[in-house]
Amino acid sequence: MNERVRLVGKPSKISEEGNAWILHFPRFAEEGTHYHTYGELTPYFKGLTEGRLLGTKCSNAKCPIYKGKGELWIPPRRDCPDCHQPMVWEEVKNPRGTIYTYTYVERGGTGLEIECPYYQIDVKVDGVCSIIKSYLINRKPIKIGDKVKAGFLTGKEATHTCLDLYWELC
Ligand SMILES: [Zn+2]
Repeated sequence: MNERVRLVGKPSKISEEGNAWILHFPRFAEEGTHYHTYGELTPYFKGLTEGRLLGTKCSNAKCPIYKGKGELWIPPRRDCPDCHQPMVWEEVKNPRGTIYTYTYVERGGTGLEIECPYYQIDVKVDGVCSIIKSYLINRKPIKIGDKVKAGFLTGKEATHTCLDLYWELC
C-alpha cells in the first residue's frame, strides 16, 4: 500500500460561462454527463488549482452581527447570512490547521474518488472560524489535535473539485 493517498478518478473537464466555472462530470458515460456550475463560488475552486486557499468574510459596517469585522469562512459563502450583503474574498496564506476530528475510511461508497483506506478529516484552519471537511494524504496513525498543512492539486493534476485541497501532517 502506498504511504500517500491518491485519487482514483479522472480530472473533470470545465468550461466557463462569464466568470463561472461549469464542471462536466460524466457520471453515466458521456451521454450521462452531469453539469454543475460553481457560480459565484468559482474563485474558491480556481484558487485551489492555483495553490491558493480563499475564504469569504463580511465587511459591511452595518452588519448586525459582524459590524464590518467579519471572520473568515471556508467553504466560502457568497452573501452574509446576517446582513445579506456580498461577502469579500481573502486568501489564507500558508494554510495550517489542527485535526478537529476524523474518520478512517476503509471502504468507500460508489463514486468515491479517493483511494482507500484514507483519513477523512475535519480541520480547524488557523485564522478561519469554520471547520473544513477534507482528506489527509498520510496513512500513518493520527490523533485529534495533530497539526496539518494544506496541499493543492494544481495544473494538470487539478480535478477542478474540492479534492484539489488536501492536508498532510506537519
Ligand atoms: Zn454581514
